[in-house]
Amino acid sequence: MGLLELNDVGKSFGSGKASFFAVRHVSLRFPYRGLFAIKGKSGSGKSTLLNLMAKLLNPNEGKIFYRGKDLTSIKGKRLAHFHLYDVATVFQHYNLIEGASALNNVTLPLLLAKVSSFKAKKRAEELFARFHLTALQDKNVDTLSGGEKQRVAIMRSLVNQPAIILADEPTGALDEKNSEQVMTMLQEIAKERLVIFVSHNEELIARYANNVITVAHGQVTPYQAKEEGLSPESCSYTYGKRWTSFFTGRNFKRNAKKNLVAFLAGTIGFASLLVGLGFYQGSATALANEQSHSLEYQAARISERSYIEIENSPLKLVKQTRPEMVTALDATASLDSVSIENDYSYFLPNYNAYTFEDQKADPCSFLPVYDLTLEEGGQELVKTGGVPLSNNLDSVLVNEEFARLYQEEVVGKRIDLASTYSLFYGGVKEEGALAFHFEIVGVVHEFSFLNAPKVYYSYSALAGLMASTRLPGISKALAKEITIDSLLNLLPSDSVITNYDYLLFIHKLKEVPKLDEVITSLLTAGSFIRIDSSTYSVKAAFQDLTNAFSLSLLVFVGIALVGVSLIVALTSYSNFVSRKKETAVLFTLGARSGDLESVYINESVTVALLSALMALGISPLLQRGLNAYIQGRFGLENLIQIPLLSFWGYRLAIPILLILFAMLLAYLSSSIPLASLKRMPLAEELQDE
Ligand code: ADP
Ligand code: MG
Repeated sequence: MGLLELNDVGKSFGSGKASFFAVRHVSLRFPYRGLFAIKGKSGSGKSTLLNLMAKLLNPNEGKIFYRGKDLTSIKGKRLAHFHLYDVATVFQHYNLIEGASALNNVTLPLLLAKVSSFKAKKRAEELFARFHLTALQDKNVDTLSGGEKQRVAIMRSLVNQPAIILADEPTGALDEKNSEQVMTMLQEIAKERLVIFVSHNEELIARYANNVITVAHGQVTPYQAKEEGLSPESCSYTYGKRWTSFFTGRNFKRNAKKNLVAFLAGTIGFASLLVGLGFYQGSATALANEQSHSLEYQAARISERSYIEIENSPLKLVKQTRPEMVTALDATASLDSVSIENDYSYFLPNYNAYTFEDQKADPCSFLPVYDLTLEEGGQELVKTGGVPLSNNLDSVLVNEEFARLYQEEVVGKRIDLASTYSLFYGGVKEEGALAFHFEIVGVVHEFSFLNAPKVYYSYSALAGLMASTRLPGISKALAKEITIDSLLNLLPSDSVITNYDYLLFIHKLKEVPKLDEVITSLLTAGSFIRIDSSTYSVKAAFQDLTNAFSLSLLVFVGIALVGVSLIVALTSYSNFVSRKKETAVLFTLGARSGDLESVYINESVTVALLSALMALGISPLLQRGLNAYIQGRFGLENLIQIPLLSFWGYRLAIPILLILFAMLLAYLSSSIPLASLKRMPLAEELQDE
């Protein structure tokens, strides 16, 4: 039994009709030591033969035995083991690990074999000494001459004491002197193990090789070894040393610029992800908060609807009337304190015809509050001036938009307006006039977005005025005291003078949600009673707006995610492509795919991790800056609330998720191209051009 045996081996390339055998019917048997030359013309199949023996290619036909064991089906861990300990390859173009010292290159296979770095260094140094190359030890291999590089490559192939060294044109790129040095070295090595080299230098072959195998058209001259060598001691190894740190460190230095760009891009991407999330989180609460910042919440209208069937038609008419007072009270029974008041609209002036300091003024809305001293929840809205000491009809509050209309101090200024009315009741025509003289006592701050100039007056004070405004004609006709207020009480529910409704006031800000509930339940129950609140409809519109806003933010966050993924993936991929050959070399040296993964993945994962941490670090600053800007610009407070500390009730959920996400992303985007490498034929990647 020889060390290596080829049994009717054939290897074809291509498929279908284009398929051909590069080598075929090759049977060879090699002993445990000796220097063997393979010669032949270019394209005759020498490299293919060598790659088959190195297990960088798999045969289509025949079998290859190593120490009597069939090599054909080994893969994965066992293949890595075979490359690490049994057969080593030397290439025409050296395939050293660039940017590393000669010593590091020679140490590498030992570290792959998990020899401690201390022992590995010692063993490598012994080799340098043995070949009188100690002077090269600490030089960067990039600075070495071709001959020096090849001798370093040969030491690297030897360091794990493999049984076989295969060298494809090891002197192909060298001058005569260097070729001789390399051949002398191989000759010495061949005294204790099997060395097979490919060459077309007849002279070198004649001088150095013990045996010659000639390849022509994929066929070999039948060859049998004359002497059988002895089995060299197999190498022992220990586990434990990580060898990847050198690569990670070197790659970081080499790719400093690319990694810096990836780091910055990643930071921007992750930060915009966080800001997008902050918008998503903050917008709903910010809008809800702002929206309740309005005095308008106090008033609503309550009315009753009835349907009138139209004969011979599926259509119905809707008729709105003022409900019975008991019905109105009943419908609002679940609210703690409400006031239900007559609607005096019929008697009130056209608000667009008011004067401000005796000047005809721009349009604005006049809206009622129940009590101008502003009950619970309202006073904090007053920014300048104040509320009157007691509720009255001589004072009004205006909002900031109103103040802005006049661009001057409005507190203390006058608003005047007047109305006339005429009506028929009990066969009498009644005509009259009302005049209002208000002094602005305070300015309230309201949510400025979508807001308009408003003047708030006291409705309870107005009710007092209406209860004391006599209607002389009607009083005389009915022979009893009738005021505007008492007339409204007498009127039927479908009189235009009633405005077909009552006004409803809630007294506490915290009743707003309850009122909203009542409105919703009346609507869903299909009740005849209807409550209309402008705040409620504004809120519903806002809800839609907020939802649309959040949705677009989610899209934005999604785009940021895709962007970051692309950046990380592209960086990992380009890192991988730039080192594809080196990866193939590492495979050939016996690195396992797990080892390789850590070399490439470490780098991408570290960059991704750093940018995620950076993004987490700067996001509170971004939040502060953006919020200050938004507040100044739109008056919205804390629109962005990045949930760094807790999310969905979990502490630090977002930072942890972001870090995991970044690392997973980097891991996947660098491990996917690696997986493709595992399927790639190594011989092709390592081919010398
Ligand atoms: P040599 O090393 O003797 O010059 P090779 O073994 O490299 O020859 O190639 C033998 C033949 O096989 C050549 O015709 C070459 O083009 C072909 N060949 C080698 N490798 C491949 C491959 N991966 N795919 C297709 N053809 C190949
Ligand atoms: Mg070749």
